[in-house]
Amino acid sequence: MKIPTPLLLGPNQPLDRPYRGGAGIARFRGTTQPSPFTPEDFVASTTEVFAGGGVGLTVLPDGRTLRDAVAADPEAFLGAAHVARFGTRTMLLVKLLDTAERLFVHYHPDDAFAASHLGSPLGKTEAWAVIDAEPAAYAALGFQRPVSETEVHAWWDGQDADAMLAAMNRVPLAAGDTLLVPAGLAHAIGPGVTLVELQQPTDLSVLLERRTLSERDALLGLDLGVAIDGLTREVTPEDRIQSLRGGRGTETLFPADADPYFSAERIRVSGTRELEPSFSVLIVLDGTGTLETAKQSISLSRGATVLTAHGDGPLALSGELDLIRCRPPH
Ligand SMILES: [Zn+2]
Repeated sequence: MKIPTPLLLGPNQPLDRPYRGGAGIARFRGTTQPSPFTPEDFVASTTEVFAGGGVGLTVLPDGRTLRDAVAADPEAFLGAAHVARFGTRTMLLVKLLDTAERLFVHYHPDDAFAASHLGSPLGKTEAWAVIDAEPAAYAALGFQRPVSETEVHAWWDGQDADAMLAAMNRVPLAAGDTLLVPAGLAHAIGPGVTLVELQQPTDLSVLLERRTLSERDALLGLDLGVAIDGLTREVTPEDRIQSLRGGRGTETLFPADADPYFSAERIRVSGTRELEPSFSVLIVLDGTGTLETAKQSISLSRGATVLTAHGDGPLALSGELDLIRCRPPH
């Protein structure tokens, strides 16, 4: 079967997520918000939410999931080098995320923890590229001081989010900012932020703050002691935060520590430009233009999200465009 790419993708927003958001996604895409609890849009996703049921998976125009389509023809989607190194996993989950309230204080397990305790070879390192933010927008990331296991226990028992946040670094966020969030680091995004999120393709979040969720849902079924073991309780100092925020003075959006997990480039086109073949997700931030491959031509404007496959060959962009290209590790 022929691969359906390049493919312009519509919204794919799981309903009834446990926190409010999504208005920023609707603004960005020029769509309407499906409900107040649709803060995430899974773009070209082969990953379902932890609760399962296929929620989160991208469905192609022919009715197959992208996951099944990639599994059926991995080299066409991913290229031989990717398949030789990683098998048939895309190794990438891209989301649009928009917060109407502060997110839960949470962390994501790393690969080793996920393999030992959660039956997954992959954890979830993630990274953000902010596309819109309220004036005083912020994230909380890592701890300003060492935190003991006993203290985390007490936070959990008392569900003391204020104490958690008081121990964390506060990082201002504005449009154009980027931040790499390594697995293990506690974090929370404040309200009024719209961002592009790149993640390892899992839905593994350990919520230290559980709000109305059950203990089981918040902790992925782990015992509290085990759940605390995966958390980085050491200090994340200011210079480390700065390095996580930094790009590389080029189009590469994230620091080198992101390279084993994924990559993203901010690409500006004025006139014409060719991009190398790759499985990728294009997110158009601004401008208008056209994407052409040997097979077809797609019109692009702000809010467009496009899946490209390795087998599409080189991508010819033309017009005036500002976009982010998200790719697996390469
Ligand atoms: Zn997270």
